[in-house]
Amino acid sequence: SASLSELDPEVAEAMAGELARQRDTLEMIASENFVPRSVLQAQGSVLTNKYAEGYPGRRYYGGCEHVDVVENLARDRAKEVFGAKYANVQPHAGAQANAAVLMALAAPGSKIMGLSLAHGGHLTHGMALNFSGKLYEVAAYEVDPETMQVDMDVVREMALAEKPDVLIAGWSAYPRTQDFAKFREIADEVGAKLWVDMAHFAGLVAASLHPSPVPYADVVSTTVHKTLGGPRSGMILTNDLELFKKLNSSVFPGQQGGPLMHAIAAKATAMKIAGTEQFRERQQRTIEGAQILAERLTQQDCKDAGVDVLTGGTDVHLVLVDLRNSELDGQQAEDLLHEVGITVNRNAVPFDPRPPMVTSGLRIGTPALATRGFTADEFREVADIIGTALAAGKDADTAALRDRVSALAKAKPLYEGLEDWKIL
Ligand code: PLP
Repeated sequence: SASLSELDPEVAEAMAGELARQRDTLEMIASENFVPRSVLQAQGSVLTNKYAEGYPGRRYYGGCEHVDVVENLARDRAKEVFGAKYANVQPHAGAQANAAVLMALAAPGSKIMGLSLAHGGHLTHGMALNFSGKLYEVAAYEVDPETMQVDMDVVREMALAEKPDVLIAGWSAYPRTQDFAKFREIADEVGAKLWVDMAHFAGLVAASLHPSPVPYADVVSTTVHKTLGGPRSGMILTNDLELFKKLNSSVFPGQQGGPLMHAIAAKATAMKIAGTEQFRERQQRTIEGAQILAERLTQQDCKDAGVDVLTGGTDVHLVLVDLRNSELDGQQAEDLLHEVGITVNRNAVPFDPRPPMVTSGLRIGTPALATRGFTADEFREVADIIGTALAAGKDADTAALRDRVSALAKAKPLYEGLEDWKIL
């Protein structure tokens, strides 16, 4: 049958454009990564054809003998990588995983308490327009206005006052680790379940470079496509058998129908990779790159231009740039970096005076570049390009900076030879 480019040249052309964009620019959106060829192959496979409602050994469809093998591999490897007793690998994405978690932990109308969206939390942790904000009563803790970090005394006080049924740790934009043992203590004190959403930092946890929430939380959810570097999808872990049964039922039939077996195959492959020394070394470069960037963005030229780094640095794979005192707002800074070939996203800082579509911040992450092979040397160059651009603001010499970006992109080629196997 016809290849994609023969049958549908319009889509093929847009895909070629996207491949070229990924190759020619520097991807620094903190939630993105580059999957390896093996993961692309698993996702573009005949497993997409198979219906497999149910779980391995207990399916509602015939012909599941091979996909059972795949799902068992994904589950076993996820358990091994994170040291968890049970894993559900069927959530189509992070938001679906989180919907299933809340469905298993609390009845609609119960109270949930997570980090405010405006201070780095995720939509699924109680944002008003999200299912979590519509179905549950919400209390949200915030970061301290001085340190810009979560203060566990404040979390405890609020938990004692609000008595949530579910206490949530984990975040989408926060540059430090959280104290999971303390969260556990507070959850126990107020009789709440503890759910940790480690979507952003799961790769660092897998590499033992970040505290693991698995020993402390009742349930841990994650995406697989951020620092973990696998297919776009979600996953849930627990050590509690009774909760595992509830979680299974809330994923299927509670939230989803047939699992995406091609995505689950890719998850299995991603989990195999996550268990390797190479993966650990890559996560190390990811953190090192973010720290190099934070250091550059706190130098004098940035200070003079009112550019700062929230919390003064980072422990993880991202840096939050504070532009409240800069001539650039988040939108302008995002556009400026786009012009020099660096892709980031604008991001509200806590207590942001500007509206959410403009913002006073940037979220800049290093996972994709670390996957591309960037070491400290290349990260120093990237950091200097970003620091120089933000310090110069509207006077930045964008053509010269774009040349430096192109040189880096050329030095670290991406998906070499991809055209040759596009038919998969
Ligand atoms: N949880 C956190 C902490 C996230 O940052 C995200 C994605 O941004 C999600 C969940 C949702 O993942 P998805 O976009 O796959 O639904």
